[in-house]
Amino acid sequence: MNEENISNEDLGAGSNNTFDLALRPKKLDDFIGQKKVQGNLSTFIKAASERDEPMDHILLHGPPGLGKTTLAHIVSSELNVNIRTTSGPILNKTGDLAAILTNLQPKDVLFIDEIHRLSSVIEEYLYSAMEDFQIDLIIGEGPGARSIRIDVPPFTLVGATTRAGLLTTPLRDRFGIQIRMEFYNNNDLKNILKKSSVKMKLELTDDAALSIAERSRGTPRVAGRLLRRIRDICFVKKYEKIDKNFAIEALEQLDVDQFGLDALDRKYMQIIVEKYQGGPVGLETIAAVLSEQKDLIEEVIEPFLLQKGFIERSKRGRIVTKIGWQHLGLEPTKQNDDQINFLEKE
Ligand code: ADP
Repeated sequence: MNEENISNEDLGAGSNNTFDLALRPKKLDDFIGQKKVQGNLSTFIKAASERDEPMDHILLHGPPGLGKTTLAHIVSSELNVNIRTTSGPILNKTGDLAAILTNLQPKDVLFIDEIHRLSSVIEEYLYSAMEDFQIDLIIGEGPGARSIRIDVPPFTLVGATTRAGLLTTPLRDRFGIQIRMEFYNNNDLKNILKKSSVKMKLELTDDAALSIAERSRGTPRVAGRLLRRIRDICFVKKYEKIDKNFAIEALEQLDVDQFGLDALDRKYMQIIVEKYQGGPVGLETIAAVLSEQKDLIEEVIEPFLLQKGFIERSKRGRIVTKIGWQHLGLEPTKQNDDQINFLEKE
């Protein structure tokens, strides 16, 4: 896959790179967009601080790159407590979780990214920690081993997931605060880009920032990545500032079209249209033809194409809609069109 295509970075794997850390807002007031989320969090943080209690557990869900990790750090900083971070796939021993929990200070934040990927054993172990701030520890080995129940400091669990639907109900119900992150509008992304450009000591005009925003798939991480690549092009071409013309030229060089679709998105739609007459076609098949992970397709490529109305998920598989065909410069035949209408109604 070409570096400019959607990559593991978009699945969250790059969320700790140094650029991300440097550009990450530290306080709720610096967090741009998602006004409702901000307003709610600010109220709950204030209430917990004034009552001098740990904040209720928080579940953040939504597509990658929308600011879930950033918000977890902001919550800890606004509460003036420490944050411990881990993730579902790496937390695979109850002993590791017990060590993390017993080392927390009262009211600390424990952030678990990709919480939908916790094993069922770890998940069950978390239940009593979340609810009663107690865990069971096994002391000794063999026939003499016994289990004792100990207290852990009251803490706030912040769980992040791109797949809320995969969370079990008992786990989901233990989160008192559940927040759904939405894609950002272009104006908020423009403001995020302007702020990042100042931190990166780049001259970026307002209309250039808006052009980049329009092609950032409603996602701050994508906006940041595009800005960094445009900065590279600017540096090599020895340009002093990024204006609209330069930004558009650079975005075209990066193969990002006017809707923010890149080569991989277009290839995804082309496969369905050219090999399967517009669909329906199953995810497994698309993943195999595209040689990409199913997770990447479901979590990164599809949410944005669905939001744009370029594709639909029917019971029988994925289909490219009429405007999806048109975006590829093609016109569905009457037969394809009838099929699309039929499946859309299913
Ligand atoms: P997620 O955890 O949802 O995958 P992150 O919190 O890692 O997303 O955010 C990805 C990048 O986008 C980070 O560099 C972060 O600084 C930036 N970012 C996300 N949301 C915002 C925002 N509201 N304002 C400014 N930057 C943001």
